[in-house]
Amino acid sequence: MERYRLLIISCLFCSFTLLPGFSTAAWSKNFKVVIDPGHGGHDPGAVGKVSKEKDINLNVSLKLGKLIKDKNPDVEVIFTRNKDIFVPLMKRAEIANKSKADLFISIHTNSIAGSKTVKGASTWTLGLAKSEANLEVAKRENSVILYEDDYKTRYAGFDPNSSESYIIFEFIQDKNMAQSVGFASMVQNEFKTRSKRVDKGVHQAGFLVLKETAMPSILIELGFISTPEEERYLNTHTGQQNMANGIYNAFIEYKNAHELRIAQNKTKSTTTPQHSNNNTITTSNNTTTAPTTQKNTPKAEKEPITIIKKKVESQDKPIFKIQIMTSSTPLKENDRRFKGLKNVEYYFENGLYKYTFGATSNYNEIKKTRDQVVSKFSDAFIIAFKNDKKIDVNKAIDEFLKVNRK
Ligand SMILES: [Zn+2]
Repeated sequence: MERYRLLIISCLFCSFTLLPGFSTAAWSKNFKVVIDPGHGGHDPGAVGKVSKEKDINLNVSLKLGKLIKDKNPDVEVIFTRNKDIFVPLMKRAEIANKSKADLFISIHTNSIAGSKTVKGASTWTLGLAKSEANLEVAKRENSVILYEDDYKTRYAGFDPNSSESYIIFEFIQDKNMAQSVGFASMVQNEFKTRSKRVDKGVHQAGFLVLKETAMPSILIELGFISTPEEERYLNTHTGQQNMANGIYNAFIEYKNAHELRIAQNKTKSTTTPQHSNNNTITTSNNTTTAPTTQKNTPKAEKEPITIIKKKVESQDKPIFKIQIMTSSTPLKENDRRFKGLKNVEYYFENGLYKYTFGATSNYNEIKKTRDQVVSKFSDAFIIAFKNDKKIDVNKAIDEFLKVNRK
């Protein structure tokens, strides 16, 4: 961490000396993080052989909160619960929204029927589940609302166990998606490289609690309580501290990037626009080294996204592509992670290289391509560009439908 801090300091110093519009005012405002230990009280969450999910979630959450408080006097830590009590799902989101939090971290423990060997940590953001297994995770977590007497009215008839209910997540607008996914990737990276846990990846699914929060939000599944070995681990002090450390490191990485983004935006509004170079990210062959400030540093939000590589078709129509994966470092064209896909392209956004496959102005065609790609990349999803800028995919679909109905 020491090296990381030094880099941050030296980088901030550069910004300070090179950019006249830079102000330390961005630092005077507290960063607020809401930590949400899943379940509690009469809702045990998933139940293992010797423990309950609610207790693991709370213990890891308290350890995470303590780490943040002890080391970051500028951060306000807010818990949705800090003891064994029941808190309705909507209330959790309300706590985050009312406090105008900058970040929401919901902590859960996974469970799967019929297996005692599945292991690993995963991190989730709001979105449409791309597989039945992913939908099951959201269904299980959303089922907590059944503990609330008035859930039918409070959640407008949402039935957590019916797949049809999840249609509402299909065209959800989430302005925080990029930041949520960015943070989720940082958490998974920490779990994998430093906490040494099995990496179950970053996924999207329709979690009600994430739908209601108005800030970048993630939901972590620490591991499987249904797997005795992992249940034991998650009930030890070492295991809980290890998971909390992983989330903490990612939190610091996210917060630093967030502050740089504020500083950059401030600079932009007071000076002439600066064109930064997209290729400043360096590749490290050693994946276990501490991240540098160059890695995963989100670019200012309003900066246009640069599409690298060849252009496609006419520029006035929306162009649909399939996003298959992201990486904090550039990948070679024949990288094995592309699983043999040819002509993979990429664009750069929020500090990440985002890899896409296919390019067409025909939405029906891209849907077919996605159905083929999904067997290799279960989380692949459709995105849209217009005149080389990424645009809201829902608007692109509307535009496509309008033109093609004529
Ligand atoms: Zn849970």
